Amino acid sequence: MKRLEGKTALVTGASRGIGSGIALRLASEGALVAVHYGSKKATAEQVVQQIKENGGKSFSIGADLRTLAGVNKLTETFAEEIKQRTGSRKFDILVNNAGIGTSQTLEETTEEAFDEIFAINVKAPFFLVQQLLSTLRDGGRIINISSGVTRIPFPHIMSYNMTKGALNTFTMHLAHLLGPRNITVNAVLPGIIDTDVNASWLHTPEGQATAKSIAALGRAGDISDIADVVAFLASNDSRFVTGDTIDATGGGH
Ligand code: NAD
Repeated sequence: MKRLEGKTALVTGASRGIGSGIALRLASEGALVAVHYGSKKATAEQVVQQIKENGGKSFSIGADLRTLAGVNKLTETFAEEIKQRTGSRKFDILVNNAGIGTSQTLEETTEEAFDEIFAINVKAPFFLVQQLLSTLRDGGRIINISSGVTRIPFPHIMSYNMTKGALNTFTMHLAHLLGPRNITVNAVLPGIIDTDVNASWLHTPEGQATAKSIAALGRAGDISDIADVVAFLASNDSRFVTGDTIDATGGGH
C-alpha cells in the first residue's frame, strides 16, 4: 500500500517549480492532489495530466493569493471539489509552497513590493490555515516551504528573508496549537534549487561555481530533493516530527 493512499492534499503554487514536483510526488504516493495555480491554468493542467498519466488522482484550482478574496476563493473551491470526489470536505495535507522572491535591497524596496511579498509569502499561508483548520483532519499535516536564507544573511533580498522568517515562526507556534489534534506542522528550508527563478544565473559557469561553493554537497538542489523531504513529512513516517524547520540545502551554510 502506498504511504498516502486515501489522503487528500492541497499544494499551493503547484503549476511549476518546486510545487509541481511536490504535487507529482504526493500523487505518486497515492494522495488525491489539488494543484493550485495563480494565473497559469494551462501549466497547472499539464501537471494534473502528468499525474493522471502516472496513474494518480488530481485536479487544478486557480486563485490569486495576493488578497484575502483569493484565499477565500481557493478554500471554497477546494472544499467543493473534494466533496464531489471523496464525499467529504475534510482533507489531510496542506503544503504552503506558493511564494515570490525579490532582488531589491533594503534601500530599493518600495511599499508596494514589500506589501506584495508579505501578502503572498506570509498573509496567504496564515489565512489559508485559519480557513482550513476546521476541515483539516486530526492527524493531518501542514508543510510550509520556507528558505535556507533564514539561516544566513543575504542583505540583497532583505524583505524575502523576513517573510520566510515569519513562516518559520508561524510553523513553530502552529505546531503547539495543533499538537493536541495530532496535526504536525513543519517547514522545509530549501537551498539553491534549480527552478525557473534561478535558471538565468544558475545555468552559467559562475552560477555553477557559486552553487558548488555554497553547498557541502557541491551542487544546487533538484526539485525532487525537496519533494522527497515533503513526502516524508506528509507521511506517517514523520509522525514524531513537528514544529521543526528542516534544512534541505545540501549543507548550504
Ligand atoms: P516558482 O516561481 O517556480 O513557483 C512559485 C509558485 O507560486 C508558482 O506556481 C506561482 O504560480 C505561485 N505564485 C506566485 N505568486 C502567486 C500569487 N499571487 N497567487 C497564487 N500563486 C502564486 O518558484 P520555486 O522556485 O518553485 O519556489 C517555490 C517555493 O520555494 C517558494 O515559496 C520559494 O520561496 C521557495 N524557495 C525556492 C528556492 C529556490 O531556489 N528555487 C529556495 C528556497 C525557497
